[in-house]
Parts: sequence; C-alpha cells; structure tokens
Amino acid sequence: MKVVIVGGVAGGATTAARLRRINEDAEIVVFERSGFVSYANCGLPYYIGGVITDEEELTLQSPESFKERFNVDVFVAHEVTKINADRKTVTVKSLVTGREFEESYDKLVLSPGARPAQPKMLATDCDKVFTLRTVEDTKKIEKYVKANDPKTAVVAGGGFIGIEMAENLVDMGVKVTIVQMMPQMLPVIDEDMACQVHTALREGGIDLRLNTTALGFEEDGNQVKTLIQDADPITADMVIMAIGVTPDTVLARDAGLELGLGGSIVVNERMETSAPDIYAVGDAVQIKNFVTGANALIPLAGPANKQARIVADNICGIDSVYRGSLGSSVVKVFNITAAVTGLNEKAAKAAGIDYERVVLSPNSHASYYPGGEPMTMKVLFEKSTLKIIGAQIVGPSGVDKRIDVLATAIMAGMTAADIKELDLAYAPPYSSAKDPVNMAGFMIENIGAGRVKQFHWNDLKNLPKDGSVTLLDTRTPEEREEDGYAEGFELNIPVDELRERIAEVPVGKPVYVMCYSGVRSYIACSILAQKGFDCYNFSGGFRFYDIVKELI
Ligand code: FAD
Repeated sequence: MKVVIVGGVAGGATTAARLRRINEDAEIVVFERSGFVSYANCGLPYYIGGVITDEEELTLQSPESFKERFNVDVFVAHEVTKINADRKTVTVKSLVTGREFEESYDKLVLSPGARPAQPKMLATDCDKVFTLRTVEDTKKIEKYVKANDPKTAVVAGGGFIGIEMAENLVDMGVKVTIVQMMPQMLPVIDEDMACQVHTALREGGIDLRLNTTALGFEEDGNQVKTLIQDADPITADMVIMAIGVTPDTVLARDAGLELGLGGSIVVNERMETSAPDIYAVGDAVQIKNFVTGANALIPLAGPANKQARIVADNICGIDSVYRGSLGSSVVKVFNITAAVTGLNEKAAKAAGIDYERVVLSPNSHASYYPGGEPMTMKVLFEKSTLKIIGAQIVGPSGVDKRIDVLATAIMAGMTAADIKELDLAYAPPYSSAKDPVNMAGFMIENIGAGRVKQFHWNDLKNLPKDGSVTLLDTRTPEEREEDGYAEGFELNIPVDELRERIAEVPVGKPVYVMCYSGVRSYIACSILAQKGFDCYNFSGGFRFYDIVKELI
C-alpha cells in the first residue's frame, strides 16, 4: 500500500508517524510546500518574541530524521498542484528546481491546513506587513526586526495569534496597537469574559482599539500606515495581520471534492472525503461541534492531531471515528490565562439550547496558602438536564487545569451532579478541598433544585427603579467605601448582621442581593428565603460587576 500525504505539519506528520507505527510495510510519502516538516507552528510567536531562543526547538524533525525514525519519504519545498483522482496520482512541483512530476497513491491524505485570511482590500505587497503561518514567515519577521529595530507595530486582529504576537512584540520593547473590528477580543469567549482580557492587554501596555476596522495599508517612507474606517490612520514600523484563517483547499476544490463551511473539505466521521481513497484532516476540514452536532470549523492543533491518528487507523483497517471538537483552547495574555471549552452563550443561543450560566470567582488554591488568586469561571448548562455544555475561565493561575476538567466533563456528558462529585486532587498549594469545578457543580445543582434564584449583569438595567424591588448589598461598609457599589444598591446590611437587621428589608418586595463574590449574597438569600422573601443572588458578585461594568 502506498499512502501520499499532502502537508507535513500537524495533521500530515502525525498521520505519517501513526501509519508507520501500525504498518511497517506501507510506502509513505509526504509532500510539504514549505521548507520544513513537522515544525511547531504554535511556538512561532514565542520564537519571534525570544521566549524560544533555539530555532531547532521549532523544527524538531527534518526529512532525514523522519526517514531514520519512521522510514517515511518527506519532500519539503514540494507543492502538490493537482489531484488526478481518476488515475490515482497527484501532480507535484519542486519549488527548488521547478521540476513537475506525478506521484501515484493507493490512499491520499490531505492535510493542507489553513492560510491567514487576507481579504482583497487588505491585500498588500508592502514588505512591512506580515502574516504568520510558517517557519519562513517567522524568519521574515525576525529578519525585519533585526534589520530595522521597529519601535511601533500594529497588530490587526483579536484572536489567539494576534494576542500572542502582540504580547511577544511588547516583550521585545515594541509599542503595539491592536485594531480589532469586533467590540471584543477573543470572539470564542463571551463579551463579559473578554473584559479581563482587555484589561490585561491594556495593563500590558497595548493600545487596544476595539470596534476598529482596518481598511488597508499604505507605505509611508520607512513606515506603514494602517488605514482605519472613520478614523485617522495609524502609522507604525510594521504590521502583523492576524484576522483569522481560511481553509487552504484550492487543491480539493479543483479536484471536485465536496466543500462545506468557508470552502472547507467535507469529511465523514472516518475522515473520508467525497472521493474514494481520499481522506482529509486538520484546519482544512469541516467537522462537527461535539455539543450540538452542527458543522464547524475548528482550526486547532488538538483536533488536527487526533484526526490524523484516526485517518491512519482507518487506512490500516482499524475502524476509528472522530466524534467532533469542543474547540477547547487556552491563551496566555501577559499575566493572565484565558481558556474556553464547549459552547459560549452565542453558540448556545444559535443552537437553540435553553441554557443558564453560573459565574464564580474561586481561588486557584486554598486562600490560606500564599499565592492563591481568584479566577473568573463561567459555566454554561442546559436548564432541563443540568448537563454541562460550555465553560470559560480567565485568571492568573489554575485556569488551564480547570478548563481541561470541564472539557472532560462535557465530553463525558456530565451534569452538575457529576461534577460536584468529581474526586479531584487537593493539597493547599494546588486547590481547595472543594475544587472550583466542584463549586460550579454545587451552584448549578442549587439553581436546578430551585434553592437559589440568580440574576445577571445584563439584567441590572431592566430592574425597576420605582422602588418596587429591594437592592441589597451584603458587603461591609469598609468594602463599599473602598471599592464603591453598584448603582441602586444603597441598602447595605453586611451578611453577618442580617439576622438582627432583617426588619430593615422591606416585606413583600423581591430582593436582589449582591456581595463581593456571590458567596455572602448566597448565604443572605438563604436566610431571607427561609423568612419568606423572594430573593435573587447576583451572579459573579460585585467583583464580576466591576469587571464587566463597561458593558452595562
Ligand atoms: P498545518 O499544521 O498548518 O500544516 C499544513 C501544511 O500543509 C503547511 O505547512 C503547508 O505548507 C502544507 N501545504 C498546504 N498545501 C500544500 C500543497 N498543496 N502541497 C504541499 N504542502 C501543502 N493551535 C492550537 O491548538 N494551539 C495553539 O497555541 C496554536 N497556536 C498557533 C500559532 C500560530 C502562529 C499558528 C499559525 C497556528 C497555531 N495553532 C494553534 C493552530 C495549529 O497550528 C493548527 O490548527 C494545526 O497546525 C493544523 O494542522 P494542519 O495539519 O491542518 O495544518
């Protein structure tokens, strides 16, 4: 059996290695357009920023090492220009010699990835405007930086790569402006959870311009102007374009393969395309959202690697299916981490799911052990079943671990009852006896059982201002003095005084209660509810209110 693989990085190289591990006899040939095989594209921003200093760390494999370890023939700087499905060959062009030839296959695997999105109006041949995909792109940026010592940069785009590049440029002493068309950074998280990301970027020294659309670029002497819709251009020494990616599927399209979302390649759960003996994986394929089953594009390394293994198994007769992706992802934003898994609110609404959310501010580890810091955790669940459908976490530490636990919970179809019981490791330097994930389970279960009713930051503006409801702050007067309080929350009864001062709470009116994190207000709600009050706990507490107040 001869397997030809197009693309030799995440999906392609993994397919080749897995194939070899289960079939010593197959002939495996990989064609890679760039000059490098199996390079660490996720590490490229950190190489530019000098966090990763050794270029060899990025390019752990070479065609020679691949041959030695896996007996795979890798041809770098070779572009597959055509699929001739009728005669089961591909046309290949050497980008070094220009020589063209045909290579036959029994099975063909496409892992061509995605290219940086570049709408026509932003297309430019200006040598100070860069995109980042390959090692060559990285070297181009590195060379420019070494030669020109840029002092200013514009990063266009507010996704993971934009953020990573912005941070790494700042670390190099460059003054960075981010222009982001949307009103928030990181569109994979909700607008309320993005607020802390905005703060971290601004505190990191970035001039963050949201709702700002780049229209094009113009050379300006030694600099480049980014033209902005309805605003003055921004002049800088360089520009990084990171406005998203598009499936790189010209080959597949020209071969008549069925295409889906954004021109991606349609595959079934065995990663087979619409053409016999042609498989596809990675950023180029349309997959299923694991929670909703809807078609989705999820250009991340984890899915690409898993799909590659599945393709190799299927080619070798081991029946294997890809069940879809949660889009679990994580990014460092200066001194905080932002992470997401499963559905965000926008996606849950689009899927027509009747969901609710809890927001909590647990410490990364026991509060009495030094160094613990609060994270903001938001967990979405289906109202009728209390099944966990999504989560987002932002904070200085402990974020990656909790998002992975929640991703596991979602894949296992767990409910609040399940996650409250998860037996997670605990010692004071690492967690609390009730881990943040357990806490989310307790909260959701209380809500599901009707023991707690809650209200959210976006309900605040709709609360009647005519005195027909009571707004109660259960923090201490000192906290209010120091941090302020939410508009309308004039009545202040610290939770520890509530039993004695309950007569101050007007009878017969709903009571909306706030404290710092949501814990004391929950206790207040349980005291009041047992005395017959109709009580609502503010989700996330004043801490979250303070984070999101720019949205209210
Ligand atoms: P790729 O790994 O991109 O490989 C595709 C390869 O195919 C390319 O090298 C291309 O040159 C080659 N190719 C295309 N067409 C042809 C052709 N016709 N002939 C020959 N070769 C061809 N994901 C994460 O999960 N976490 C991260 O932190 C993260 N960071 C990233 C940072 C950067 C800067 C970039 C660019 C991506 C990052 N990603 C990250 C995304 C992740 O790298 C991709 O999801 C993953 O590499 C996709 O694998 P793939 O095999 O589909 O495509």
